[in-house]
Amino acid sequence: MDVTEWIMANEKSLRSSIFFGMLIIMGLWEVISPRRTRVLTRLLRWTNNLALLVLNIVIARWVFPLAAVGVAAYVESNSLGLMNVYEIPFAVAIILSVIALDFVIYLQHVLVHAVPILWRLHRVHHADPDIDVTTGLRFHPIEIVLSLLIKFAAILVLGAPVIAVVIFEILLNAGAMFNHANVRLPLWLDKLLRWVIVTPDMHRIHHSVEDEEANSNFGFNLTWWDRLFGTYTVEPRHGHGGMKIGIHHYNVPKQVSWLHGILILPFRKKIGGYTINRRNWVESNED
Ligand SMILES: [Zn+2]
Ligand SMILES: [Zn+2]
Repeated sequence: MDVTEWIMANEKSLRSSIFFGMLIIMGLWEVISPRRTRVLTRLLRWTNNLALLVLNIVIARWVFPLAAVGVAAYVESNSLGLMNVYEIPFAVAIILSVIALDFVIYLQHVLVHAVPILWRLHRVHHADPDIDVTTGLRFHPIEIVLSLLIKFAAILVLGAPVIAVVIFEILLNAGAMFNHANVRLPLWLDKLLRWVIVTPDMHRIHHSVEDEEANSNFGFNLTWWDRLFGTYTVEPRHGHGGMKIGIHHYNVPKQVSWLHGILILPFRKKIGGYTINRRNWVESNED
């Protein structure tokens, strides 16, 4: 049995063991070597962020029982999409598909910052007053459904092989848990990894309350897109210890950390603050 067959045969158990493995490893790393001091308790944030994750899994399965892998299987059996138009070696098709899907996720991330109504949904991810491994799993259910639709469209157009979709989803999940973690990495290692992989220090800048910092570092796995499209920020203005995480004016735990508050967050308040067209930094004394 070759590697791809083995991955396909063990897909579900592989996914869940990588998820729980990452949760335990990053959670312990956060205890042993945290990068920042927490604002809220771990108990409050973890229970609510993980409850939201469970809700999202239930909703996603209910709305799209076949999931991304199902779409990829349909594409494969009908020889649809770009990868099937050209005679591409299988290994190359896998690598190209994974890279292309990562690019689509980058574009989608820019989009949810740029379009005010989408920013309402994506605010849920940013309103977390702390950033740690569970922030990487915290998205509004409507944003989850929307991103699944975008992913399905990308798989259809690309003709991504099923195995590429499985690899990509595992990488995205593990990558999000890694780059949201409140962990300290040796600076030389952070710098080295950043040539390819989004590190916790790099993605944390995207969770800054400051407009132009939040409107940078959109990448989830590969750092290339931010470098290529000029959305890369190397360091936060106030340093990793001094920078504020979250959204200005969003700091009441019931509204930003409790599950019911998180779920109604997109429908609250007028849309102010930072959609992508506001990239000038104005010092704000308010929270
Ligand atoms: Zn974002
Ligand atoms: Zn994030």
